[in-house]
Amino acid sequence: MKRYIRCIPLVILTVSTLMGCAHVQKNDVVFQSSTINALVKGIYDGDVTFGELKRNGDFGLGTFNALDGEMIGLAGTFYQIKADGVAYPVEDSMKTPFAMVSFFAPDDTVMLLDTADNYTQLKRHIDGLLPSQNIFYAIRIEGKFKHIKTRSVPGQQKPYPPLVDVVKEQSIFEFHDIDGTIVGFRSPGYVHGINVPGYHLHFITKDRNAGGHLLECRMQDVTVQMDHINNFFMALPHGGEFYSADLAQDKKKDIETVEKGTSRSDIEK
Ligand SMILES: [Zn+2]
Repeated sequence: MKRYIRCIPLVILTVSTLMGCAHVQKNDVVFQSSTINALVKGIYDGDVTFGELKRNGDFGLGTFNALDGEMIGLAGTFYQIKADGVAYPVEDSMKTPFAMVSFFAPDDTVMLLDTADNYTQLKRHIDGLLPSQNIFYAIRIEGKFKHIKTRSVPGQQKPYPPLVDVVKEQSIFEFHDIDGTIVGFRSPGYVHGINVPGYHLHFITKDRNAGGHLLECRMQDVTVQMDHINNFFMALPHGGEFYSADLAQDKKKDIETVEKGTSRSDIEK
């Protein structure tokens, strides 16, 4: 009995401490719909609308139901870059099977002048600026690019094929001496299964007419803004194929294939 009495103040203290921590700043959260493994497995219908997504962020990336193109959102406007490479407006009633958004509020701004000749160098450069590898970062890179290579994917019909098969029919777009904005996130290395570890970036031209999932880039004169994010929220589908799928399988190789836009045989070489 004595032991229980002694425990009570400790329990109260713990609960109040948790409550104290429960206040999360609106602009310090990554909001994600579904999981990357679900997308890789071909679960291309989600139940989160863009209206709901906008209530959780004004900045981000993802895709659309039936995997109909690449999504990019910045300054509260969302675009659908379809397999023809054109950026279309997004209706609030449209839905996404996978997206991540945040309210962009940069903590750091750095200028990059000719210091990154390719995507790998860009990632290395940004990695060197981060206070930790273990939190999320929203990243916005804006300015002039010598070269940009993007891709988009065509909308799919049911029964949906897995993502590695869809990527085989992806459209590739090349831009030279182009003004535009790269939008995306750097996720910690431990998010396997849930999200893409490392960088996931999308591009849109300054005139907001074209873009896609970023495959390669060469900077000319750009500004890099980084928003350090310490909270992560996942909205999982309310049923459907998501409920019965085996989402615990290791899909690292497939994710690498779809992110880099190469064929599976290229990766396995
Ligand atoms: Zn993407």
